[in-house]
Amino acid sequence: MNMVNNIKNRRPNLEDEYPKIESLFTLYEENGDDKVLIQLGHEIHRFLVDIDFMSKYWFSLLDYLGYDPMPIKLYIELLKKEYPDADCTLDYDNAWKLLVSVRLAAQCTDARVNVVVQDLYAKFPTVEALANADVADIESIVRPCGLGKSKARDISACMKILHEQYHDNVPGDFDALLKLPGVGRKSANLIMGDVFGKPAIVTDTHCIRLSNRIGLVDNMKEPKKVEMALWKIIPPEEGSDFCHRLVYHGRDVCTARTKPHCEKCCLADICCKQI
Ligand code: SF4
Repeated sequence: MNMVNNIKNRRPNLEDEYPKIESLFTLYEENGDDKVLIQLGHEIHRFLVDIDFMSKYWFSLLDYLGYDPMPIKLYIELLKKEYPDADCTLDYDNAWKLLVSVRLAAQCTDARVNVVVQDLYAKFPTVEALANADVADIESIVRPCGLGKSKARDISACMKILHEQYHDNVPGDFDALLKLPGVGRKSANLIMGDVFGKPAIVTDTHCIRLSNRIGLVDNMKEPKKVEMALWKIIPPEEGSDFCHRLVYHGRDVCTARTKPHCEKCCLADICCKQI
């Protein structure tokens, strides 16, 4: 309690002015409830802003209370509670199919990709079949996903490499994935996280928009920069699921094309609402 006592010494009437802080602190010590911690953080913040405290006290007190001014653990936990089963929204039963789907998903909805790939795999059911297919035949099937020509070209080239160099398997190495045609950092991270269960940060459009809005990054739009910033604050084992949950949240609540539904958002208490 040294830090609390320090504050009391400087502000002897603290208890009269801010009884809520003490009672919330006690309550949090007793039950460790996230919501109490959020309230406590807000009260302390208000208090510190009111008295214009020196920053070293600000940070020492937050440290003492275990309150993170960037409460990433809370974001993770709150989203976990809201979307306990969130996972990849692309359907696949084999790693190479996820590789195909993720290429098709560029500028296309996952729902449409999930339909289109059914026709693709009905005609070309294996890596070898796709590797040997005419690019034009692939294109005629994947055209509804948009950018048909380049997507068909990449899928064909990628499947050829898997067939010729990896015995029809997908390499479990990030740099090897990046060398495959049509595979960028977002796709490589998705494969690493979903297929190989490795740490991953998938900076798709939802991840970038929400990371900015809720305050995890500041006015950062470039996917690689956002990815690098998130690597620094998100525990590696949480990254892949966290990004999947941002997709669900971005579609249902913190939407891009309509005003975000802050009134029903599980993050509303801690979000910076940089809309
Ligand atoms: S509070 Fe609003 S801006 Fe923040 S994450 Fe929720 S919906 Fe998005």
